[in-house]
Amino acid sequence: MLDSILESLRVIELPTKTDFRSVTSREIALFEGPAGWGEFSPFLEYAPSECVPWLVSAIEAATVAPPQPIRSQIAINATLPAIDGERAISEVLSWYPGATAVKIKVGNNLEEDMARIAYTRKVLPDAAIRLDVNGHWKVNEALEVIKKISALGPIQYVEQPCATLAELRELHTKLNGEVLIAGDEVIRKSATPLALDLGGAIDILMLKVAPLGGIKRSLEIADLHKLPTVVSSALESAVGISRGLRLASVLPQLNFPCGLATGALLQNDIGSLPISGGSIELTAVRPNPLAIATYAVPAERLAWWRERIRNTWVAGAQEWIAVEGWSW
Ligand SMILES: [Mg+2]
Repeated sequence: MLDSILESLRVIELPTKTDFRSVTSREIALFEGPAGWGEFSPFLEYAPSECVPWLVSAIEAATVAPPQPIRSQIAINATLPAIDGERAISEVLSWYPGATAVKIKVGNNLEEDMARIAYTRKVLPDAAIRLDVNGHWKVNEALEVIKKISALGPIQYVEQPCATLAELRELHTKLNGEVLIAGDEVIRKSATPLALDLGGAIDILMLKVAPLGGIKRSLEIADLHKLPTVVSSALESAVGISRGLRLASVLPQLNFPCGLATGALLQNDIGSLPISGGSIELTAVRPNPLAIATYAVPAERLAWWRERIRNTWVAGAQEWIAVEGWSW
């Protein structure tokens, strides 16, 4: 299997429209297996051990027929990176026609965060506002800031306000249900997401297919924790996003719009998942060969990704795949 992955590997670089977590382009590896295309696109700084679930997820996509959907239209949220200036914010928000929720990146500069939130509310007065802090706040800071922000209008939830599970639990107790907490990094950066006790720490579970090791594993995690879920993504191409849509289409309960419209932040993509009326339709994406050729990386980057996949394979992917019994 490893040999045929490396042989069929394509690596592309897709430019983003804005600076997103200091990323201005995304390198993405793609390969095709008997069940379709898989995307392997962990951020460049991740060590092989952190890449293991990403590779397993890509191999699952290429190996296993996807589960049958129970819904085909997936409501999405707008994702607003930590950008400033009314014109820039308006432009980004216009990329998500009909979205009823906006996820706003915050946590680096309170004044700019407050301005970004206030302006979003002004432009989209009916949209639900969610904040994503990526663990930047300490408990007391989180308490203070959340109170300040929610005094100006309702917050649907705050995603990963603090970094650790212990901090989230302390904050959850102190907030006493005033504002809901969603857990993202606390689950997807855990080496053992199936052994976590999230009780009393979070109210909502963020599920990201690639860092959690695929759809099957994401469904197991959802089933274990029995919390309302939001499916989200990691600035992937349409191939990766289509796996998030697939997960969202099969979850027994889907309570909120999902963070699966981040393709709008890319200048170009290799497949099309249009947003219409605040939703994306579940679609099996085959990457456009012309786009793959257009955005192909130079030979040395392809060699780097081949090496990365070999390292990820021996760091745990091979073992995981043997347990699943997947083969080509
Ligand atoms: Mg997040």
